Amino acid sequence: MSEMQSVYYPQSEIHTTLIPVTTGCPYNRCAFCSMYKADTYGEVPLLEMEHELMNGERYTERVFLTGADPLSVGFEKMIRILNLVRKYFPYCGCVASYASVRSLQKYSVHELTELHDAGLRLLYVGFETGSDETLKLMKKGHTAAAAVRQGQKLNEAKLPFCAIVMYGIAGEGKGEENARLTAKLLNQFVPAKIITMNLTVFALTELAEMVKEGRFTEATTREKLQELKTLITELHMKKPVEIDTTHTTNLIKMTGRLPEDAEKLLDQIDARLAG
Ligand code: SF4
Repeated sequence: MSEMQSVYYPQSEIHTTLIPVTTGCPYNRCAFCSMYKADTYGEVPLLEMEHELMNGERYTERVFLTGADPLSVGFEKMIRILNLVRKYFPYCGCVASYASVRSLQKYSVHELTELHDAGLRLLYVGFETGSDETLKLMKKGHTAAAAVRQGQKLNEAKLPFCAIVMYGIAGEGKGEENARLTAKLLNQFVPAKIITMNLTVFALTELAEMVKEGRFTEATTREKLQELKTLITELHMKKPVEIDTTHTTNLIKMTGRLPEDAEKLLDQIDARLAG
């Protein structure tokens, strides 16, 4: 791919070897998202990937497959990619990538298990919210029920994943309800980690238009912090889970393990609310 394309990866993968699998986003319709607006969706040819791997460091231990949603290439190609990683990076213990709820719907539990066995060890899934009304407003292209099922499928396949959710996404006056619905969604599966983001209105997005036309009003900082507090309070996962609010968009940066650190995290939010 000769054109310049945007490349994004989670901040925890900053030191990971990046292997491009797709460019752009196969969906590219989420109202709040500005990431791949200027990019064309495309699959990187296997030969190009092989060339990249062939010239990489044989002792690479971790790989991040880049693209908004690499699983969009389908099961057969994913297996071939993972086999190539194994061939050229035999010491690699973890291949990670983003994955959308929409793409996961096309994979069976058996296929996800096979991907895990072939080396795929961590997915970052953008669930955003458990509110169907908000998912529709933000044009996420999936329902809360579909999202729950994908989380459960990943658990059944024993494929670890980080669940990305976004406070403020429901807009002014809806933070409390959004927190409860998002916690309800998350409580139905067990992610390796919950990563929070704070809704940010980026220029040139459909959301920016909605704000301009008065169809969406942003929640205040106070409401967003209160939403984060309710989310943490309402999380009752079947197993202990990490929570990470250190993404750059967040209003407060914290990490902890739930349930044991819940009180400490809530105290930090209270201190911020009182400040
Ligand atoms: S949020 Fe993800 S799926 Fe939605 S448009 Fe952006 S990159 Fe694509």
